[in-house]
Amino acid sequence: MDKPIYKRVVLKLSGEALKGDKDFGLDEKTIMNIAEEVKKLQSAGVEVAIIVGGGNFWRGRSGKEMDRTTADYMGMLATVINALAMQDALENIDVLTRVQTAIEMRQIAEPYIRRKAVRHLEKGRVVIFAAGTGNPYFTTDTTAALRAAEIESEVILLAKKGVDGVYDSDPKENPNAKKFNELKYKDMLNLELKVMDSTAASLCKDNNIPIIVFGIENPTNISKVVFGAKIGTKLKED
Ligand code: UDP
Repeated sequence: MDKPIYKRVVLKLSGEALKGDKDFGLDEKTIMNIAEEVKKLQSAGVEVAIIVGGGNFWRGRSGKEMDRTTADYMGMLATVINALAMQDALENIDVLTRVQTAIEMRQIAEPYIRRKAVRHLEKGRVVIFAAGTGNPYFTTDTTAALRAAEIESEVILLAKKGVDGVYDSDPKENPNAKKFNELKYKDMLNLELKVMDSTAASLCKDNNIPIIVFGIENPTNISKVVFGAKIGTKLKED
């Protein structure tokens, strides 16, 4: 387990993954633990792009009476807060980073430009993608799928809070739920398993990008997966 098995990865961190034991917002210690893991990957020569969610602050569907598009833009702004927090933690431990945002905010981040993002990765900088796809009605899981395809990432590491892989039914409701070690996208879609939205899964299926779903309670799972440990569930095309 001394060599990474991937050269370029997309790490998707849900907003929940950044809030630690808090009910809301950010937990600096949790973020620092994740940053240390990212540093391990970078030190091993792995190119890392991070997509952050925003659910620790706001999700579009939280706004029951609100115009959906407005609520989704608020969600995208939440991801920008998380991206800056992640950048700050990484730069605190001397990991060079760039934040690129899908909604232009010149004072705080670069705009998303694919070729520039790839160049940063080649130079060993960690690129953090903020503001999702920049479009309402999407999620940051779909953003991860889209960006992974665009930058030709070999894999998406889907770090989840509260679940350590994909099960045939909800393990919180069914104590006999069975965890899959591997699962084909088409089976996941047919079984309507709610581990990610179907847009993200379809995009990965069509572009043959595997996803590894694993628990983030123990952040060292991130490096374990990249160094070849078989944890969580691997979703793949065939
Ligand atoms: N969002 C959006 N378009 C995108 C990505 C995100 O409208 O391309 C909004 C949407 O409202 C979503 C929120 O941003 O609920 C936060 O993202 P997400 O729910 O994916 O975060 P996570 O669950 O990963 O924390």
